[in-house]
Amino acid sequence: MLKDKKEPTKISDLGEFALIEYLTKNIKLKNKSSKYGVGDDAAIIKTSKTQVVTTDILTEGIHFDFTYTPAKHLGYKSAVVNFSDVYAMNAMPKQMLVSIAVSSKISLELINDFYEGLYLACNRYGVDLIGGDTSSSLTGMTISITVIGEADAKDIVYRNGAKETDVICVTGDLGGAYMGLQLLEREKQVFEEVGAQPDFSGKDYILERFLKPEARQDIIELLKEIGVKPTSMIDISDGLASEMHHICKQSNVGCKIYIGKIPIDYVTAEVANNFKLEPLITALNGGEDYELLFTISVKDFEKIKDYKQIKVIGHIMDKDQGLNLITEDDNFIELKANGWNNMD
Ligand code: ADP
Ligand code: MG
Repeated sequence: MLKDKKEPTKISDLGEFALIEYLTKNIKLKNKSSKYGVGDDAAIIKTSKTQVVTTDILTEGIHFDFTYTPAKHLGYKSAVVNFSDVYAMNAMPKQMLVSIAVSSKISLELINDFYEGLYLACNRYGVDLIGGDTSSSLTGMTISITVIGEADAKDIVYRNGAKETDVICVTGDLGGAYMGLQLLEREKQVFEEVGAQPDFSGKDYILERFLKPEARQDIIELLKEIGVKPTSMIDISDGLASEMHHICKQSNVGCKIYIGKIPIDYVTAEVANNFKLEPLITALNGGEDYELLFTISVKDFEKIKDYKQIKVIGHIMDKDQGLNLITEDDNFIELKANGWNNMD
């Protein structure tokens, strides 16, 4: 239907029902618990497990910018950020509902690409698209995604279980997505001002971190395999500092985080320096890394210490000691919710 067209296809040419049919006709349900998907008034899920549910809204111009975000990447990322929330409960995402509101400037090709990204993410993470809703909007595109996951009730991990002496762990590296966004924003501005084409050579890693993040399914599987249940967990969508504050507040504890142990990728640090930003600040305050921040009991430390994808960055402390960063020369700096308060 799309192949030979040069002009973008108007969605109004299809109408709502044909559009839904077009977008969902190839779905094959993968999970046992997905009993009925798209096509009736409601979908059906049946499981003996405990279900966890999360939802996210994404608005064009607020959460994403089509100037530098390919629609397929947007679809992939919209799905993955919701999967990440489910993993952060130590659960497995299984079903997804997608609602979109689109204005007349959004072409069928764009929506098709967006769904390709959604399906790619669903296939990679073992999730079924079981329904959604479609509406028009006056301007731009709004996306709402709901993901339903499963776990054994005893395995669910909350933000509020961290205890004094627990070890604080983080996966992957931090600040990359934020620097990817800064780079894209800068090149957009340069393009708008002087028409220069961007040169992103050598920067693929941070662009990918922003445009096509992955959720840490691998870590949830690994922790299960080695028999470690975190005492608390959260995914890093708003930066390490803010997430650490959520864990400490809800667990009623304090923490100390060693600055030298916070994982920052080389390209992230290099680009941060180019932007005259402190790499540490991007790791603490930059969002959208979708890594996992979790705490484990000291007795489990031996089990995780040899996995390079998990870094130990600090310890949980008594609440009265507050939230602190420890410098390389053993000074304490208060960890602010929105980052790091420079000493000078
Ligand atoms: P209703 O009028 O009952 O809301 P719809 O015509 O909106 O029904 O939806 C028909 C079917 O298509 C339902 O199964 C719904 O979940 C699914 N659906 C609607 N919009 C989307 C979408 N954007 N993506 C995936 N499934 C959708
Ligand atoms: Mg509907």
